[in-house]
Amino acid sequence: MSLIIAEDLQKEYNGSAERVAALRGVSLEIEQGEFVAVIGPSGSGKSTLLSVIGALNHPTRGRVVVDGIDIYALPAERRADFRREYIGFVFQSFQLVPYLTVVENVMVPLAVSDASSAQKKAMAMSILESVGLGNKSNRLPDELSGGEQERVAIARALVNHPPIILADEPTGNLDSATGEGIMALLLALNEAGHTIIMVTHNQENVRYARRTIRMRDGRVGA
Ligand code: ADP
Repeated sequence: MSLIIAEDLQKEYNGSAERVAALRGVSLEIEQGEFVAVIGPSGSGKSTLLSVIGALNHPTRGRVVVDGIDIYALPAERRADFRREYIGFVFQSFQLVPYLTVVENVMVPLAVSDASSAQKKAMAMSILESVGLGNKSNRLPDELSGGEQERVAIARALVNHPPIILADEPTGNLDSATGEGIMALLLALNEAGHTIIMVTHNQENVRYARRTIRMRDGRVGA
């Protein structure tokens, strides 16, 4: 069975003036270990799809089944557990906590873990090494460049070793060299077995993915 199965997803938002149909019947399957790019015009529903797959945004209709779990059939609390265990989010806005150091930021998702604080710190340091920031772990976020902050956000998303990484414009505000570094990191993670779904406008980024899903007007297709 596919790792991720989306069945006839529909999502309507009730805006102040009108209802917006962001997803109009999206069905897709993603296998364990895939690296998928989601492309399409602005407003076509890409971010909505990512947040629905990531258990963050209840669809109006349809199902998402991940590893055999029908995620929106779970009570909210168990859905939050599911998210922590399975999903790492890399968003465009990094939303690091400004008054925590780099290593403390990366440890945030471990707050609920049973590990000792020394173990948590060791896990955070190990992932920071892998994104090339082991030597900046005691800095505050605003003492880092934009690309470094993005790498901290990626480290934070990965510290739990989630099997699925959802990335929304991961190189959005970065210069091209830094963006390439982020893409190389995502590629290495994919080669290590993580399943990646990435929303992007950037043609260079699309080349890293092995499959492209094109969205238009809330549907998948040409
Ligand atoms: P994309 O990522 O392709 O730009 P989105 O999924 O962000 O598309 O948005 C799809 C549509 O849903 C757009 O018309 C957008 O304005 C609308 N939309 C997205 N989020 C909300 C929200 N929270 N409330 C109301 N409308 C929204």
